[in-house]
Amino acid sequence: MITIKSEREIALLRKAGKIVYETHQYLKPLIQEGMTTKELDALGEAFIRKQGATPSFKGYEGFPNALCISVNEEVVHGIPSDYVLQNGDIVTLDIGACYHGYHGDSAWSYPVGNISKENQALLKDTEQALYEGLKSIHEGAHIGDIGEAVERYATSHHLGVVKELVGHGVGTSVHEDPDVPNYGKKGTGPKLKKGMVIAVEPMLTLGSPDIYMDAENNWTIITDDGRASAHFEHTVVVTENGCEILTGE
Ligand code: MG
Ligand code: MG
Repeated sequence: MITIKSEREIALLRKAGKIVYETHQYLKPLIQEGMTTKELDALGEAFIRKQGATPSFKGYEGFPNALCISVNEEVVHGIPSDYVLQNGDIVTLDIGACYHGYHGDSAWSYPVGNISKENQALLKDTEQALYEGLKSIHEGAHIGDIGEAVERYATSHHLGVVKELVGHGVGTSVHEDPDVPNYGKKGTGPKLKKGMVIAVEPMLTLGSPDIYMDAENNWTIITDDGRASAHFEHTVVVTENGCEILTGE
């Protein structure tokens, strides 16, 4: 069931989104060579809790940590560990926070030190693919319009679109209806209405979009060909003429 949020609910979602955004801003300068992903997770969790929120992902279907931290060929659901970030890595922080029962969800991929030209392009183009998707949102548009816009941009920039993982509604659960795929056809799928809250989250790859799940931890999703992947996500509320980003500035 797709729910329409009231003004009161949107105010709480805005606050949750703001906490997610601020957690990203807090961690961004700390992402450096020599840092472990576990350290970033601990700092992120403490920051979220200090704002009076709880980390949405901790304990979600048994996920062990506050943040999903995915490095290089890891697409999503990386588990924070003793891995030490290296110059040239790209690292994705997927952050969720719950404030008074309402969630915010935003992922961002960051460079560690100096990254290759192709990884620079991957980050820039995946971020832009997110904004291309967001541009297609307004009351009366369709879910398929978002996927079409993301896919068209990704394909024209020679990037792979991971199809098994999708965006989603956000509210009192971090994952609600509807699914928001990063591919599709204009004019298809559920119609967007003012007050719907969704997370749009392209996951794009330098090589093949095929993926597998790490058999040891049963969480982490990795590219089949071992090439890098990037992930950019905002939670937004649909408005009459567009959308308002809840996990932005
Ligand atoms: Mg997320
Ligand atoms: Mg999400």
